[in-house]
Amino acid sequence: AANIPLVSELAIDDIHFDDFSLDVDAMITAALRMFMELGMVQKFKINYETLCRWLLTVRKNYRMVLYHNWRHAFNVCQLMFAMLTTAGFQDILIEVEILAVIVGCLCHDLDHKGTNNAFQAKSGSALALYGTSATLEHHHFNHAVMILQSDGHNIFANLSSKEYGDLMQLLKQSILATDLTLYFERRTEFFELVSKGEYDWNIKNHRDIFRSMLMTACDLGAVTKPWEISRQVAELVTSEFFEQGDRERSELKLTPSAIFDQNRKDELPRLQLEWIDSICIPLYQALVKVDVKLKPMLDSVAANRSKWEELHQKRLLASTASSSPASVMVAKEDRN
Ligand SMILES: [Zn+2]
Repeated sequence: AANIPLVSELAIDDIHFDDFSLDVDAMITAALRMFMELGMVQKFKINYETLCRWLLTVRKNYRMVLYHNWRHAFNVCQLMFAMLTTAGFQDILIEVEILAVIVGCLCHDLDHKGTNNAFQAKSGSALALYGTSATLEHHHFNHAVMILQSDGHNIFANLSSKEYGDLMQLLKQSILATDLTLYFERRTEFFELVSKGEYDWNIKNHRDIFRSMLMTACDLGAVTKPWEISRQVAELVTSEFFEQGDRERSELKLTPSAIFDQNRKDELPRLQLEWIDSICIPLYQALVKVDVKLKPMLDSVAANRSKWEELHQKRLLASTASSSPASVMVAKEDRN
């Protein structure tokens, strides 16, 4: 019964939307607005009460972890909405594809425990039953299916059986695409297609890869946000990683790798630079080649990169400054 604010009031069509601007309830109404605005409620005759209940249950099935929580899921969905509307992908993708990516974004990290795929394997987690490829992502998808099958939650109840079959396949693809290992496996093909100008919307395989790249671009979207937001998210991710690292040390008797190691937290700027250069920049560059309206995203990544570079240089200076004067001091003391 709540009044659903307009897109402009929520600023959800903004590529540079502030990930921390809405409270947990406002994120529910904003998600409703996105479904309505994209024409999903009308096109697929989604029962409004079912949609509200489904959204509340999706939110409830995110855990209170530092980063992979409901806010992250919402922010990924918001960026998808902004990219669909800004870049005009809304007119190129067919309705069932749009529904699959929007629902995919909201569900893509369901029941995330704050530990990654490698940790599931190392710790002998029950989730390892999904195998070693996209372990968690299979869990997120299955969790999404479980919610849809719960009483009063099937937002897809009025789809034809053909539409339903297509949608579930696209939804699975969307959620699995958020595994970075799969992103690495497919991105070379995508990068080649766009740089040679051979990308073709009429080829099914091209569209499949494109939607996968779009999912990753939204999932990693914090890197495209204004500096203060971007830095804050990076710190949340890092804090969650450190908690995993602490468990690797205490429970598994392992030395965590740099990004998970609390003792190496000073290396964050350097690690962020690596992350941006190897994973983020090539992806947003390729997407800008598909649609130049996405350029502001790439510009923000570059601006954030400069900030991390600055912090990295400062840290290098500080470490040389702290080591050399100290030795000079010692030398002087020795002489005295
Ligand atoms: Zn995610």
